[in-house]
Amino acid sequence: MTEVDLFVIGGGSGGVRAARIASGHGARVMLAEEYRVGGTCVIRGCVPKKLLVYASRFAHEFEDAAGYGWTVPAPSFDWPTLIANKDKEIARLEAAYTTNLTRANVAIVKSRAVLEDAHTVRLADGERVRAKNILIATGAWPGMGTGIAGIEHVISSNEAFHLAELPKRILIQGGGYIAVEFACIFAGLGSEVTLVYRGENILRGFDDDVRAHLRGEMERRGIKVICKRIVEAIDEVDHGLCVELSDHDDIIVDKVMFATGRRPNVKGLGLEAAGVRLDDKGAIAVDEFSRTSVPHIYAVGDVTDRLALTPVAIREGHAFADTVFGGKPTPVDHTNVPTAVFSEPEIGVVGLTEAQACARFHKVDIYQATFRPMKTVFVGSEARMLIKLVVDGATDRVLGVHLVGPDAGELIQVLGIAIKMKATKADFDATMAVHPTIAEELVTMRTVTRSYAREAAE
Ligand SMILES: Cc1cc2nc3c(=O)[nH]c(=O)nc-3n(C[C@H](O)[C@H](O)[C@H](O)COP(=O)(O)OP(=O)(O)OC[C@H]3O[C@@H](n4cnc5c(N)ncnc54)[C@H](O)[C@@H]3O)c2cc1C
Repeated sequence: MTEVDLFVIGGGSGGVRAARIASGHGARVMLAEEYRVGGTCVIRGCVPKKLLVYASRFAHEFEDAAGYGWTVPAPSFDWPTLIANKDKEIARLEAAYTTNLTRANVAIVKSRAVLEDAHTVRLADGERVRAKNILIATGAWPGMGTGIAGIEHVISSNEAFHLAELPKRILIQGGGYIAVEFACIFAGLGSEVTLVYRGENILRGFDDDVRAHLRGEMERRGIKVICKRIVEAIDEVDHGLCVELSDHDDIIVDKVMFATGRRPNVKGLGLEAAGVRLDDKGAIAVDEFSRTSVPHIYAVGDVTDRLALTPVAIREGHAFADTVFGGKPTPVDHTNVPTAVFSEPEIGVVGLTEAQACARFHKVDIYQATFRPMKTVFVGSEARMLIKLVVDGATDRVLGVHLVGPDAGELIQVLGIAIKMKATKADFDATMAVHPTIAEELVTMRTVTRSYAREAAE
């Protein structure tokens, strides 16, 4: 039987990083991937999605260009060209990931792997590998719901990347960032988009002003947002699909996509046989070093459902390898993680929302501004940018930054450093503005928009 120091199950963001770093620390490493090396992010997540986001934004660029004096012939868009070019890029990246692993002396097996017991991994052909340590990095999978008549007509984000043609009309169910991003992608490319979400408003967990602002901007751009409803049934009819909503309204579309959350990929993995425990949400339970209930079995990334983002999975994978093979115990700090939603307009957030800050701090000041950015107001657009700072009124520390507008994702990466360094509002104020930019508003907001105070601090 082959013996290794580390067997990694899953060649996505977390698994690939962990395998490379562990090998660099001198471990004999084998990694199994059942689909394509690179995992969700590279193959059917962040990367292909961002390429589609870029494609979808050209529509506005062409429109705006005319206001700046350009004569733009009526643009036309070809979905198959975009998908073919996207596939070429994904194949290039997959090859680069494979090369990097091989160069790092990681043995790659293109196979499903399951746990037979706490030290034995079984591959699809029946071969068994004995591992001193095991890392589970199997990611997550779209949850499609059950009991919905006609569910076989519904696609997830996985299939959205491979549609033969751009749907003229699409209904997307879900209110999370993936649902919102795909709604904006399809709308930008010219589809008629309806977004259906069961909750009060889209983007649960985000700051309420961000949620309201983005919804308004999406509606202004023609996306129909229907909240407090769910899809009850889908029927094939002449020229499309008839979607029945919980208020008995029918909507006829060409495609239905569900983006209703992703579930940890644990089914059939042999976790019970190995003694690995799940938490009450069905994710693998781990400690701050990503160690499971079995001391030599670890888990990182989406399968642990801590913060389902690529940079987090990568950081957890790296920290695991340093902890177990580098002699440097490294916990991962999951606080103040900056993140973006690549909607149109874009969202960038870091730190606490207004509601979270008010629940934890006894005095909270909000600085907030909405305005029309110079670039688009010039061409008569009504698009508005939102900038919001959440400040601890007692210490002056900036607890959260929330942006909706152009380049919010790029801006929040840099602001994340300031928040991680515990910057105060006075630090923001002391920073000279860069003019003319939209970001200068971040350092020029002097008036408190609203303030909260309560008796006892937590
Ligand atoms: C549409 C979409 C857009 C996203 N956009 C962003 C974004 O903009 N920014 C961001 O930070 N995050 C984004 N994410 C989330 C991000 O992709 C994930 O958080 C990240 O990929 C998690 O990495 P992971 O290593 O945990 O799992 P994954 O990358 O999912 O990798 C798991 C791998 O394990 C393999 N596998 C599973 N079971 C087995 C088995 N038994 N044997 C062998 N192999 C197995 C799978 O095939 C997969 O390749 C997006 C996700 C989606 C779906």
